[in-house]
Amino acid sequence: MHKKIAASFYLFLIVLCFTSFRTAPAIITAAKQNTLRTIVIDAGHGGQDFGAKGSYSYEKNVTLAIALKLQATLQQAFPDVKIVMTRTTDVFDNPRVKAQKANDAHGDLFLCIHCNSAPAIKHSEQTGYKTQTYYTGKGKKKKKHTKQVPTYRYWSTPNPASGTETYIWAADRNDNKEVAMQENESLYMDSNLAKQIGDFDPGAPETKMYYSLKTQQYFQRSANLALDVENEFIKIGRTSREAKQRGVGIWVLQATAMPSILVETGFISNPDDEDYINSVDGQQQICNAITNAVQHYKNALETNSFQTVSPDSQ
Ligand SMILES: [Zn+2]
Repeated sequence: MHKKIAASFYLFLIVLCFTSFRTAPAIITAAKQNTLRTIVIDAGHGGQDFGAKGSYSYEKNVTLAIALKLQATLQQAFPDVKIVMTRTTDVFDNPRVKAQKANDAHGDLFLCIHCNSAPAIKHSEQTGYKTQTYYTGKGKKKKKHTKQVPTYRYWSTPNPASGTETYIWAADRNDNKEVAMQENESLYMDSNLAKQIGDFDPGAPETKMYYSLKTQQYFQRSANLALDVENEFIKIGRTSREAKQRGVGIWVLQATAMPSILVETGFISNPDDEDYINSVDGQQQICNAITNAVQHYKNALETNSFQTVSPDSQ
């Protein structure tokens, strides 16, 4: 009975917390959760995993160059925030190891840097005709024929797709995120709450509800940041292909027990974008845009003023 009352009270608190972010400081969002202390930056690919290929560059090198500049830019903007890198050299780690590094670092935010790619467009045109020989019949009846057949030439041109996209995990993958959160609960739970949760059976609906709501909160925070990153890209004249949800290929976003986004910084398959994401100026512009968005995110976190984003609206 006592347990039941405690559970109901606890449920009331989490519902209160999620129905209004402004009343959130109640208990659950302890001060610890409303500050940005550690940001984890993940440079996509690396080592034998080259990522997408441009006409002269590989994604793994571009993502590392941008990630290192982002580290410096964020550190300058937020001297008190710890910046952790999943890699600083040309090495390969599988996404599981990368997610583990982020979780072990007790990250409050996970920023994943990638480049996009679109397949070249294939073209063909008829160049003329050639004579083709063929036979009919067998033995003495075998007869030689000729016919005219068209000839073609084939070539491809770069896909014109260009610009930026920022991803969050798809809302229908929240289950995976919840698992990551359960496995790394020490990351975001204050000790009082951990004690309360500790009284619950991990399989109990109350516990499940907690993780579900916490995941939705992280989803909201990630969506706010993703939308803002794209907004900052628009301000510097990039073509924004918008903030999106993705269910595949972004396992690392689901496996990290923290708000997380994946930024596709440009199309390496597009000649103009490839030049831009390889240039020192372009890379710095990208980092400045992301840093501005992180600044807004930090402000929203500290003042509990995130906008509510509908999972269906993206
Ligand atoms: Zn990639």
